[in-house]
Amino acid sequence: MSERRVRVRFAPSPTGALHIGGVRTALYNYLFARQHGGDLIFRIEDTDSGRFVPGAEEYIIESFNWLGIKFDEGVSFGGNHGPYRQSERRDIYKKYVQQLLDADKAYIAFDTPEELDAKRESVKNFQYDASTRMSMRNSLSLSADEVQQLIASGHQYVVRFKIEPNEDVHVNDLIRGDVVINSSVLDDKVLYKSADELPTYHLANIVDDHLMEVTHVIRGEEWLPSAPLHVLLYRAFGWADTMPQFAHLPLLLKPDGKGKLSKRDGDRLGFPVFPLEWHDPKSGEVSSGYRESGYLPEAVLNFLALLGWNPGTEQEIMSLDEMVKLFDITKCSKAGAKFDYVKGTWFNHEYILMKSDEEIARHFDEILKAEGFDEPFERVVQVVGMMKSRVNFAKELMPLCRFFFEAPTEYDEKTAKKRWKEDSAQDMSRLAEVLEGLEDFSLEHQESVVLKWIEDNGLHMGNIMNAWRLTLVGEGKGPHMFDISAFLGKEETLRRMRRAIEVLG
Ligand code: GLU
Repeated sequence: MSERRVRVRFAPSPTGALHIGGVRTALYNYLFARQHGGDLIFRIEDTDSGRFVPGAEEYIIESFNWLGIKFDEGVSFGGNHGPYRQSERRDIYKKYVQQLLDADKAYIAFDTPEELDAKRESVKNFQYDASTRMSMRNSLSLSADEVQQLIASGHQYVVRFKIEPNEDVHVNDLIRGDVVINSSVLDDKVLYKSADELPTYHLANIVDDHLMEVTHVIRGEEWLPSAPLHVLLYRAFGWADTMPQFAHLPLLLKPDGKGKLSKRDGDRLGFPVFPLEWHDPKSGEVSSGYRESGYLPEAVLNFLALLGWNPGTEQEIMSLDEMVKLFDITKCSKAGAKFDYVKGTWFNHEYILMKSDEEIARHFDEILKAEGFDEPFERVVQVVGMMKSRVNFAKELMPLCRFFFEAPTEYDEKTAKKRWKEDSAQDMSRLAEVLEGLEDFSLEHQESVVLKWIEDNGLHMGNIMNAWRLTLVGEGKGPHMFDISAFLGKEETLRRMRRAIEVLG
């Protein structure tokens, strides 16, 4: 087989918000495509009309747009292998269903849902397969005339895959190795339904992967049970030579304990499981998103990349480009990855530190505006520079930084009790006088003058600084005192000090 250009796909079904596990699947596909100089395709698998949710497709596209994951072709991206929405490929699937029928690899079945239910009731562990199909109503058990008549008289039918029993089917998985399943455990899967003239997931998925020249199928572990069936379908079509290489990714597990990560875990423990906020069009329920919760997209990608894979070193912080270089699909773990959402907040903190103050200030400025503050942008940048190392999210800056923009209206009782001493009012009045006399109110100049004044007058450094902090901040927190006073400027500093002296006495 000649070397084929690497082509991978992310193929969500638009049944609701994109789960964070799906984001990781897309990311791994992206990394794999980039590192092989290949293509990443975005395909919408919407053949199950009953589960279609309006807005889901747009939501998924917007999510990747926010995250900075770019597709090379697909729905909304264009390309030569379209259409990329399965609901627009009906005629293509019909042709391939017919091919299987003609080759006797599939058959038509007329069993109604009621008849199937009755069978399941009367036969324990009933499975529609080689051992039972001749006792059912299908084109294998009925005569050709009967079949024609049933179709002509408008009976609905399905097309089932005729699986030969007692054969070991090998799935060669890049992560799991050789997975073997005996074909006798598989049922004759429905590939097509006349009722909506649509194929099922299995058929559409295989036909599209083939026609779109997909070389590697990288997807969640939940699809591993379908893989043997897919292998058999490739063979039935005569496409075994170009069958994609499979890689089934480890499950994302609950942060606390065993089992699959669910949306309920997020609700229970307070973290998002969706990239963007999602408004469910049916229930009206609103679910939180990483974007709206204040995560930086780079932090989310970095966090997700390490859920199920690591570069084999201690390195945790990686840009997307670095991940492209380091990623190795064969080094993904088989075992599920615990969804350590606290680690996710740590990543966000690290990315806040790496980002420029200006960039974080743009987020923070929005929050400030929403709170009614309209500050010159350079001042917002200055505050971010002083305070960003203390937070995991830009929104946490608000409570920490309010005092920069708004004078305290009251003084924290506990702090006042501890920090405002008998001499404090007098000390602060004297300090205010010293500060008032300064021409140069720069941080450095203030600092040298005030420290000298404290020393010359035999004052207690801690007492002065603590009382001073109370007057400017209203409580016992905040950065270095001279950072604060220099930021506030002379006038505002003196105003706050005099008011505190008056109120605290
Ligand atoms: N439509 C499937 C999904 O929603 C795709 C599975 C696959 O990648 O084969 O995940």
